Amino acid sequence: MGRRISPEELSAPMTASPGDTPAQLQAVAGRWQMYTFICIWFLALGQYMSLRRRVFLKGAVAAVLAAGGGSAVAGADEALLALAPPPSEEALARIPDPGRKLLALRSYLRAGPGLAERWSWTDAEIKAFEGTPQQKALLAEIDAVKAHFKAANPGFEIYVHGTIRSLDEQVRKWNENESVGVAAAEIIAAFSAAFPEGTADAKKQSAWLRGFQSSKRANLAAPGLTLHGRASAIDFQVMKDGKIHAGANGKEVESVWRAEGWDVKLKASMDAAGPSFKGPLKNPDEPWHYDYVP
Ligand SMILES: [Zn+2]
Repeated sequence: MGRRISPEELSAPMTASPGDTPAQLQAVAGRWQMYTFICIWFLALGQYMSLRRRVFLKGAVAAVLAAGGGSAVAGADEALLALAPPPSEEALARIPDPGRKLLALRSYLRAGPGLAERWSWTDAEIKAFEGTPQQKALLAEIDAVKAHFKAANPGFEIYVHGTIRSLDEQVRKWNENESVGVAAAEIIAAFSAAFPEGTADAKKQSAWLRGFQSSKRANLAAPGLTLHGRASAIDFQVMKDGKIHAGANGKEVESVWRAEGWDVKLKASMDAAGPSFKGPLKNPDEPWHYDYVP
C-alpha cells in the first residue's frame, strides 16, 4: 500500500474506453487500486475512532437529550419560574437538576404569597437571633419540656438539635437527598408528558404543578419552607444512656414511636410544659416535630 501514485493514475478516468492503450488501461486499474486503498484506510480509521467517538457521542447525545428534555421544562422555565413567589427564586436558581427544581417550584407555588413570611433565615438573621429575649424564651420552654419528660419517664431524656437550618444547608440537602431524587424523576416525567414541547402555558403549568401528587412523598420540605429554618419548629428526640432511642426518622414512626408510646408521652410533656408548641406534625407523620408558635 505504500507505493507512490503516478500522475497518470491521478488524472486517469475511472472507466476504460474502447481503444485505450495498455498504458491507459493500467492507469485506470491503478486509479481503482488507489480508491480502494483510500476506502480501506478510512474504514480502518473509523474502527480506531469508533471507541472514542462512541464515548463522545454518548456525552453529546446526553447533552442534547438534556437540552431537549430540559426545553420542555426550559421552554416553560422562564414564564413558569416567573410565577414563583419571592424570594423563592433565589433557591430555585441554586437547584440545577430540572426535576428537583420543578418539585421545589411546586411547593413554592402552593405556598403562594404567604411564602415570604415563613421563608428560612439567612446566616445573618440566624446570628441576629442569638441572645435575643425571643431565643431565651424558646430555650426556656424547651428546657421545661425536657424537665417534665425526664421526670415522667425515668431513664429517658429529650434531645433537641440546637442549630437552625440555614437556607444553604437546606439547598445542599435538597440537591442530594435520595427521596427528593425519586419524587423529582416522577414529577418531571409526568410534567413532560402533560406538556409536550411547544405547548407551554405558564398558568396551566402552574395549576398542574400545584395539583400534582407524588406517589411517594419526599422526606424533606423544599428549601426555605421548613420552619426549622427560622426557629419555628423543633424536633424532640428521645435519648437513653446518651444515645438516640427514638429519633427523627420516618422508619421509626411505627416501630418505635407508636410501638413504645413515645408519641403519647412526648405529647403529655408538651401539654404540661410547652404551651407554645403546636403539634405534632401530621403530614408527613412526624411525632417528634412540633411547631413553635409563641
Ligand atoms: Zn421537624
